[in-house]
Amino acid sequence: VPLMKVEDVVRTYRARKRGTFNTYSNVQAVRGVTLDIMPCENFGIVGESGCGKSTLTRLLAWLEVPDNGSIVLNGTSLGTLSPRELIRTRSEFQLLLQDPYNALPPRTTVGRMIEESLLIRGNVTRADLRSRVMAAMAEVGLAAELYDQLPNALSTGERQRISIARALILDPKLLILDETLSALDQREQSRLIDLFSKLQEKNDLTYVFISHDLAMVRRVCTRIAVMYLGEMVEIADNRELFFDP
Ligand code: ADP
Ligand code: ADP
Repeated sequence: VPLMKVEDVVRTYRARKRGTFNTYSNVQAVRGVTLDIMPCENFGIVGESGCGKSTLTRLLAWLEVPDNGSIVLNGTSLGTLSPRELIRTRSEFQLLLQDPYNALPPRTTVGRMIEESLLIRGNVTRADLRSRVMAAMAEVGLAAELYDQLPNALSTGERQRISIARALILDPKLLILDETLSALDQREQSRLIDLFSKLQEKNDLTYVFISHDLAMVRRVCTRIAVMYLGEMVEIADNRELFFDP
């Protein structure tokens, strides 16, 4: 049974025509994408800039609602959930971005940043909070001393670990990674790839890696979907991708 079932998802934007003041046309950024993401797999989505990856990412993370089609998580169609149910379900799938620092609140300590993620759910006691944050920090390889520090002195890799901890503390089933490794050097990429696989074994996580970087996706994913002009043109096992018998 798939963990996430994406069925014939369409997203159209109304955009002003280039060079005009008041002429609009429709841009079909995602045109009928269908995918099954299986539990505990590393699923890759690749494609050139402008092919619709960011739009698809926002749809998968339910930050945008598709004009057509459905996304079913664990048997529940996201479009049928009430706002209240959606908040609960949201913690099951978390989004990790390219540079989390832009998305993280400034002048907030590392500990607070991770705490906030948990406080939004509102079902944790003050006494529990610190120990759970510490445990999440240890799990992603952030030194305990960083708890009281501001993130401005941290490396991109460490900031990325903060956002991983923020996601993990909500006990997610699916992580959607949108160019999460793209801004990192090779060494840090390798370290995070190791961390992701360790976390996968321990927490039964499923990953969707979205990137323009085919080599990176081939390195980490078992199944890969190739996107072109808003459509999935190929979905194959890593070894069979681009292989015509
Ligand atoms: P990337 O390829 O890194 O996703 P883009 O330049 O395609 O960067 O998009 C950056 C942001 O601007 C995205 O949130 C995207 O949805 C939005 N965007 C892209 N094209 C348009 C457009 N024609 N009109 C309005 N917003 C757009
Ligand atoms: P990618 O992430 O692969 O670069 P995007 O999803 O950002 O692709 O963009 C796909 C297409 O949709 C592009 O033509 C882009 O200009 C358009 N687009 C994306 N977001 C918007 C938006 N908010 N408004 C209008 N057009 C958009």
